[in-house]
Amino acid sequence: MISQQTIQQILSRIDIIEIVGGFVKLKKRGTNYLGLCPFHNEKTPSFTVSPAKEIYKCFGCGRSGNTISFLMEHEKYSYVEALRWLAARYNVEIEEKELSPEARQQQQVAESLYIINTFAQKFFADTLFNAEEGRDIGLSYLKERGFNEEIMRKFQLGYCPDQRDTFARAALAAQYNPEYLVRTGLVVQREEKLIDNYRGRVIFPVHNQTGKTIGFGARILRSNDRAPKYINTPENEIYVKSKILYGSYQARQAIDKADECLLVEGYTDVISLHQAGIENVVASGGTSLTIDQLRLVRKYTHHLTIIYDGDSAGVKAALRGLDMALEEGLDVKLVLIPDKEDPDSYVRRIGASAFREFIAANKKDVILFQLEVALKDAGGDSNKKAAVVNQVAETIARINKAEDFTRQQDYIRQSAELLRIEETGLYTLVNKFIRERIAKQESKAASAANQPLPTPGDASVMTVPTDEDSLNLLFRHEQNERGMIRVLLEYGLRAWDEQTLVADYVLGESVELADLIDNKRLLTILDLFKDWYQQGLEPTSKNFLYHEDQELSTLAVSVMDVHLELSPNWKEHYEGKIATPDELYKEDVLSTMRYLKLRKVYRLMEENQADLGKPHSEEELMMLLQTHMHLKEMERSLLQDLGTVIFK
Ligand SMILES: [Zn+2]
Repeated sequence: MISQQTIQQILSRIDIIEIVGGFVKLKKRGTNYLGLCPFHNEKTPSFTVSPAKEIYKCFGCGRSGNTISFLMEHEKYSYVEALRWLAARYNVEIEEKELSPEARQQQQVAESLYIINTFAQKFFADTLFNAEEGRDIGLSYLKERGFNEEIMRKFQLGYCPDQRDTFARAALAAQYNPEYLVRTGLVVQREEKLIDNYRGRVIFPVHNQTGKTIGFGARILRSNDRAPKYINTPENEIYVKSKILYGSYQARQAIDKADECLLVEGYTDVISLHQAGIENVVASGGTSLTIDQLRLVRKYTHHLTIIYDGDSAGVKAALRGLDMALEEGLDVKLVLIPDKEDPDSYVRRIGASAFREFIAANKKDVILFQLEVALKDAGGDSNKKAAVVNQVAETIARINKAEDFTRQQDYIRQSAELLRIEETGLYTLVNKFIRERIAKQESKAASAANQPLPTPGDASVMTVPTDEDSLNLLFRHEQNERGMIRVLLEYGLRAWDEQTLVADYVLGESVELADLIDNKRLLTILDLFKDWYQQGLEPTSKNFLYHEDQELSTLAVSVMDVHLELSPNWKEHYEGKIATPDELYKEDVLSTMRYLKLRKVYRLMEENQADLGKPHSEEELMMLLQTHMHLKEMERSLLQDLGTVIFK
């Protein structure tokens, strides 16, 4: 934990041009710098860095952030690692903050579990290669399955003796804490005694990305046993199943180099392919992919190829994670291994080069594959077919459009062909889903982490877009909501008139207008700003950009506009009309607030209209009509004012 003081010191030194410029060639363009985006392929630069605002934005792929998030995204650092890197760069001495007692306790437990796992891994490997039972049973089994010793050592395979407590006794003799031994899942407690959990099994250690042993898979050797084929480590402080991809440590460089990650089901698939020289491969354990696993893949590549056997239940499970994969910007392909074989047996039978050729020749596009399966299921049922159309439109809408526009177009064309529907119709439908998604994105992001993800194809959870106009409106409203926060962050401390600041004006107006803001996260920024401001602090965008709450910082970056000073519309409009740029920001504040006011007026009109529909006394009716006239006048005046400004 780094102390707040150190963080402040680091932040005050940050020069975004210097740091980002170390990774991206930047050229000065106006007040900003421009370069080729490091996050997507492009030939003309659209990656913009604003030194004044200390943020970057790419107008090609939409990525944006501050210096720290740049390091996190580009160098795959964690937040703390990025801070440490910057501290080293600027010679800031790091002052460590005391951990809370709970955090320290948790860290100690985790450390203990790592140590025990390392001890166990060595114990099992030693048994496999050097003990009589290990060689006779474990090693001969693995050799029979075709693994050579080199690959066994690379994956640190082992064997657990078949006696009651050989490992447990060794661990206790080495003074390991019995409670933690149970927590690792290596032993179980039976009536005061510790008993080995993996008796008579071969052991597959599971590593995290840095190569630490976080758990084990233990495979049974005897067939026709009623015991489970595999026993895996239970969830504990260091073994979190949803974040693990087996083999990611051994595969990481190969994935980077090949720019492709192969995904298989089991431990032995991974090891067999490695032995055959195909090393860019990881395993998910056959369950549906989680968002953490997909992000792990995306650290290294955007190309994920799922290789499963054709009748495996794993295929369905893998497809269930498809929508998330698309949202993460992954390009997903599917290869089905024929004839009831799995990658392990198949690569052994046909050899590495034939296997590679087979993969290359049989990559199916996963979206079209899913569509074909769904169409087959629907048969002649037109209701079911309509659901399929909706489903595929929603799936296509999840492709990051900015990143891969032509890919989306291709999908629309090919899917329309398969579905035998009009391409333009599908296009419209896809766009509806996109708009709906953009409008909901942030509010969704806040809760998504805790919510189970809907299963694609399950019609009951499918969101159906409402009519187009209301969606357009939704989207524009969101922009206006952001506008109020943006002007507050950008100009809050500038003069509004002789006595007051922009913040006074905006915060004053916001009392009336805040209820128009649907994105509650934006209100967090507003409230925080207000709090700080009223305490006499001088909050600027920086306080939000570098806020320790990453979600808040991302939101702050997203409301910031780096292109304002470059917008030709603005320039053209103000050229010669307004003398100083100072007046430009006031105009920006005014028009932003006018839009929100206009929306308020429309909302009041609606309420008034609804009231008019009810029965009234003559007096009441007169009042309602007067209100209506008054609102109409406000609308007219606001529209007139707004008409004087050209909007981008
Ligand atoms: Zn980009």
